[in-house]
Amino acid sequence: MKAIRCERGSVVLDERAPAPTAGAGEAVVEPTRLAVNAEDAMAVGAEFSGVLGHEFVGRVVEINAPAGHASHARLMGKRVVGSAHTPCGECERCRSGLALHCAHATVLGIRGRDGCFAQRFTIPAASLVPLPDKLADDQAIFATTVGRVLHAARMLRVEGKTFVSVLGDGPVALLAAQVMARRNASVRLLGTREENMELCTKWGVKHRAQHEVGRRHDQDIVFDCSGTAETASVALGLVRPRGVVVLMRAFGPGASLPVETIVRDEVQVLGSRGCAVAEAVSELAAGRVDVLSLVARRLRFEDGPQAIRAAGEPGMLKILLDAA
Ligand SMILES: [Zn+2]
Repeated sequence: MKAIRCERGSVVLDERAPAPTAGAGEAVVEPTRLAVNAEDAMAVGAEFSGVLGHEFVGRVVEINAPAGHASHARLMGKRVVGSAHTPCGECERCRSGLALHCAHATVLGIRGRDGCFAQRFTIPAASLVPLPDKLADDQAIFATTVGRVLHAARMLRVEGKTFVSVLGDGPVALLAAQVMARRNASVRLLGTREENMELCTKWGVKHRAQHEVGRRHDQDIVFDCSGTAETASVALGLVRPRGVVVLMRAFGPGASLPVETIVRDEVQVLGSRGCAVAEAVSELAAGRVDVLSLVARRLRFEDGPQAIRAAGEPGMLKILLDAA
């Protein structure tokens, strides 16, 4: 079968990859739609070795469900999306409900596990979420990105007139702006790329160039979706005393946050990296978020290596691969 692999920092289309079989508790999925984004390009930079890819829509073609796991067996033949994060399921954290923070977790196509850029791939059945028929592949493929935002939003209290600023203009920022606007907040997106920010107009969300906005310490909630030390510092200039800053991405080593502001203004700084996939499927099926506007390009599966290079370009929205 065909697979897109990373070997020693270079990306290749492997036409003779071995077809996988499902281990205990796993499913084999045949993808129909794949998405390529900056994390895939970063996995190449980090010299991940194996099949790339972590965002997919596909059909379950084989399942190895241990006895007593009827819910897994019922996934056979179903159209699904799934979470890329695979906890071990056995450690202390996994057993105490903190599977997201499992120290032994692998991540599809990013850490310790082959990804989904292949004609078939394996994934734990527990990571899969079945899709309603009415939800098209092109929308369902956004489930993990929408899920990232919904997971973060669950940590926040939005009461009365809440002022929210979203820093960034990539897919996560554009979805965070939409999701928070639907929670009755007054939302503005502060980005650097006019062509991306312009999308906010059709959702009725205000947008401004980041450098034009004063740091007035008057926002209740600030999402930093850019993940640089500079934007984290901008976020702390925007947030009001006792407000909340949500960091959606980590920034590189050596950078630091203005701790003095955090202490003086009693700011809550929340890290967020979880993903509410099932909730995202419901949100997408109900048509509550526009994701189709975030598709930048559509390419054939065979163009995957080129797509991964393009995904690393600044400001790139979602690149979809047709895997069917
Ligand atoms: Zn674990």
